Parts: sequence; structure tokens; C-alpha cells
Amino acid sequence: MNNDEYEKNFSVLLSSFILDMEKVPTDTTHPDIASACENLCNFLRISRLEATHIQYPDLPHKEPILNSIDYFKSDEYDSSQPFTITRETPGGTAIYKVYPAKEAEPWSETEIDKINVFIVTLFVFNGRMRSMALCSRLTFHDRDIAAYNIKYYTIKLRELIRENKAAEYICCRFNLKKFSLINKAFGREQGTKIMEQFALGLSALSGDDCCLCRLGGDNFLHLFKADKSEVVKNYLTNTSVETGNPDEPYAKISARFSFYYITGTCQTVSEIIDRATSAYNIMKKTANSTSIIYDQRVAEQIENQRIVEENFLKAIENEEFLVYYQPKVELRRYSLNGAEALCRWKHNGELIPPNMFIPILEQSNNICTLDFYMLEHVCQDIRRWLDNGLEVVRVSVNISRIHLGKQNLSERIINTLKKYNVPHQYIEIELTETTSDVDFDELKKIVGALHNVGISTSIDDFGVGYSSLNLIRDLPWNTLKIDKSFLPKENDPYNSQKITMLKNVITMAQSLGLECLVEGVETTNHVAILKENACYQAQGFCFDKPLPVEEFEKRLKNRIFK
Ligand code: C2E
Ligand code: CA
Ligand code: CA
Repeated sequence: MNNDEYEKNFSVLLSSFILDMEKVPTDTTHPDIASACENLCNFLRISRLEATHIQYPDLPHKEPILNSIDYFKSDEYDSSQPFTITRETPGGTAIYKVYPAKEAEPWSETEIDKINVFIVTLFVFNGRMRSMALCSRLTFHDRDIAAYNIKYYTIKLRELIRENKAAEYICCRFNLKKFSLINKAFGREQGTKIMEQFALGLSALSGDDCCLCRLGGDNFLHLFKADKSEVVKNYLTNTSVETGNPDEPYAKISARFSFYYITGTCQTVSEIIDRATSAYNIMKKTANSTSIIYDQRVAEQIENQRIVEENFLKAIENEEFLVYYQPKVELRRYSLNGAEALCRWKHNGELIPPNMFIPILEQSNNICTLDFYMLEHVCQDIRRWLDNGLEVVRVSVNISRIHLGKQNLSERIINTLKKYNVPHQYIEIELTETTSDVDFDELKKIVGALHNVGISTSIDDFGVGYSSLNLIRDLPWNTLKIDKSFLPKENDPYNSQKITMLKNVITMAQSLGLECLVEGVETTNHVAILKENACYQAQGFCFDKPLPVEEFEKRLKNRIFK
């Protein structure tokens, strides 16, 4: 072979090697490259080509490793005298060893030059592969633990949708329960390692094609094949993770989670993640529940929530919320003794009950807007009744506990009455019981401030929440509203325990100087029970349902029931 031919052949082999490397830039051990490599090695009389260089792992927080790769190894190679080329890299020295064939003539200078060119080319590609691995790690992984980030999660999901494979998977949103306690017990740094152990364990059992993504803090999204649902569920419900602390070698970790079994073929990434997330949010609101599966019922709840949130402010503007008045009755004379203002939403010709929107509004400040809207409308009605010479009764207005902690609640209430020139005796504020100390202090301030200006207050739904005797005794309430759960249901067998409890609650209220009203009085039997126990105030379907304002005005004129 003459010189020109030699040069030409080498160029052809090298460019084919480069082109193959270009095709698979992240994998220098790909078979195409291996074969191009073999051709070059044969041409250059190399019997083995070995490289030891730094390799970055797929997941963060795994130390880079020194990896030795045989790019080429013939059946017979001479291990005695390799020709060694070293190159410095940011991660350490890369060593390339080139072995001549057995008993071969030493390489000529030209050959050595070509071998150098070949190795440098390989070195450049390895460097590029390293930076790509690093780049992908930085772009697609969580910074602290061995999990992907949302960017990668979306790419993976989009790929599955494109390949029509998404419907084999579950999209899962989860949060680790009380992880702050683990951070407290083991320290933040160790806490992160424990979280990483948890994440690695979860990925390991979720199948090769899973994708675990950390959203931040202790919030995650997971994606795995539906046939792994049981193992994942068990792992998330309860698992033990090594802590690295000899005094307490294991920590129990569990999560609250939602599963969305991906369906259909025409969904988008954000629709899928939205469903898992909305289901998770709905589950979170239900105390004691730790998991949820997205289904038709959840879908309706989510849709309802969307409608409420989207339409609320417009509905306030359009005055779509109506005040219904439910009479309160004095049981000795069966006469009208007061009323409770209850909200209804007239939307697109439909009358929506409060349990469909109040809990949603309570997730934001919107409930405060609604409560003051109600108070304003009640004040307007009372003012009108007074101006028309009607004999008015005290109307109670519900104020959500979400208001507690807001500045100037009592001033706002007082100012609203003033705005409509409503004497204080005609308004009562209903507040529910509370458990937290902060709320307790707030309640104390508000109830006290209203008491000082002669506005009545009542404890609503007494007996449903956590009752605290201090709360009742230490605050100047006017009325205790006993929840309907103390009353026997229609087909209940005579329940002496319930009635004993009711009797005691009534006695307690009276001994503290509180008025006492029972809600949900539906039957004459209920009325009899109240009278036997010397409670003479009732509210319930036995007398009137909540009435539209025109109906209630008739009731104001005709105040005796029967
Ligand atoms: P609540 O304050 O305990 O109101 C009493 C609820 O019991 C009303 O339901 C009323 O219609 C119902 N009720 C009355 N008598 C009977 C009866 O004999 N049997 C039965 N089974 N139920 C009876 P409603 O109007 O659906 O209101 C539900 C809840 O929504 C209220 O419970 C209250 O917590 C909330 N709510 C209603 N309006 C407002 C409001 O303007 N602001 C706030 N924050 N909450 C409101
Ligand atoms: Ca109430
Ligand atoms: Ca109530």
C-alpha cells in the first residue's frame, strides 16, 4: 500500500468511526461504533484498545466511577507492552492503552501518528458524552436526591402518549407524611439521605419503565405500569427505610397519595397530571383519608370545584346568592322567635345548596366575601322590614372560622350594621367551635368585642367538633346551638344514651346562663323530647324549611305555628 492509499484508507475508516459516534453520541459502546472501532484497530494493527476514564452515573448523588472499557479486544493480544496515552479531564486522568499484535513488528512513526489521531478522536467523543451525561443530570434530575424533576417527567409522559402507551400507566401524586419529624429527629442532611433511600426503594420496585419525580420538599409525582399498583400502594402506605443512625437504624415512612389510572389516548400531559393532583387535593381535605383513586365521583367533585371557583366573583357581582331564612321557634307558645340566614346560589336557573360551594369557598378568602355579602343582605332586609313597620326578629348569620385571625372582624361586623342602620339586637353571629389555641384567642377577642356592643353570638353545631368546656365557659356567648346529631333519627330504637347526653348538654348550657336551641328538629317526637328537658327553642323542618325572603316575610306577619 503506498502512502497516499494508506492515508486515504485511514481517513475513510476514521470518518466512518466519527459518523457512527455522531449517530449515538451518548453511548460509545454501541455495536455500530464497536464495529467501526474494530476496523480502525485492525487497520492500525492494534490487538486491544482499553480506556479507563471517569464516567458519570445516570442519577445524581451517586459518585462518578472510574470505568474501564475495552473498545476493542481481539482473541489474541499481547498484554506485555501497551502503548499508553494519558489525557487530563476535569474528572481525573483518562488512560488509553493500545496493545500491539503478538510478535508484531513495532509500529512505524506514521502508525503512531494515526493511533494518536484515533485516540484523540475517541477522547473528544468521550468528553462530549461526559458533558451530555452531566447536562442531562442537571437538566432532568432533582438536585438533592435520586429522582427526576418535572421537566423529565413531562417528557417521559409525552413520549408515552405519543406511542399510545400511556393507558398502561398510573400517574400518582404523593406527599410524605410528617417528614418534618424525620428531619427533626435525624437532622436535615440525614433526612435528605433517608428521603433518597425511600425514593430509590420506590423506583426499584416500580419497574424499569417507571419515572419518579420530586416536585420539591416532600412532594412527588410517580409514573409506573398499572400492574405495579399493589406493590407501590403497599410501599407508600408503610415502609421502613435505613437511617444510617445506629441508635435508630430504621425510620417508618408513609405517604398520602392519589392514583390516576390513565385512560384514553387523546389526553395531554397537563390533563393527566391535573387529574392526579386534583384527586390528591380532594383527598387531602377529607380528614383521616390517606389515599384516593380518581374516578367518576372525584371527577364530578373536581368539575364542581372548577365551576365554583371560576364563577364565584361574577356571581357575587350579579347577586346570584340568595338569603333564605329558617325560622327559630319558641316551643311553649309555638311562636316565631328568630331566624337563621342560610345561603343559596341561584346559578343558571338552578338553586345550589351551600354544601356544594361553602367548603370550596372555605379554601380561600372567598368565604369571607360571601359571609359579608350575606350579612349586608340580611341588614338590608331588616332595615326594609323595620321601615315597613314589620315586627322584626333577631336573625343569625354564619361567619366561617376562616375569618378568625383576619384583622378587624368585629369592627367590620359592627360597621356593616351601622351602614344599614340596624339596631344591634337584631343580629346574632354564629361561630363554630375550634380546636387550635390561636383560634381560641381570636374567638375570645371577637365574641368579647361583639358582646360589648350588644351583638349576640352563638356556638354553632355544638357536639359535632371537639367541644371544649373552657371555650363555652370563658367567653360571653348568648346561645348554644345543639347539633341535630343529639336527636334520635326517625327509625332509631329509643336511644337512652343520646337522650341522656342531650339532657346533660341542656342542663350545662342553662347552668352557664346560656340560651339553648336544638337544630334539626323534624318531628313532634323531637319537640316532646326538648320540652321534657326544658329546652324551649328549636329550629327544623318540623316547623319550616329555610324560606325565600318573600315567604319569610309572610311568616313575620303570621308568627304562630300549628
Ligand atoms: P348550619 O349552619 O348548621 O345550618 C343548618 C343546616 O341544617 C341548614 O342546611 C338547614 O337547611 C339544615 N336544616 C334545618 N332544619 C333541618 C332539619 O329539620 N333536618 C335536617 N336534616 N336539616 C335541617 P343548609 O342550608 O344546607 O346549610 C348547610 C351549611 O352550610 C350550614 O350549616 C352552614 O354551615 C353552611 N352555610 C349556609 N349558609 C352559610 C353562609 O352564609 N355562610 C357560611 N359560612 N356558611 C353557611
Ligand atoms: Ca349555622
Ligand atoms: Ca348548625
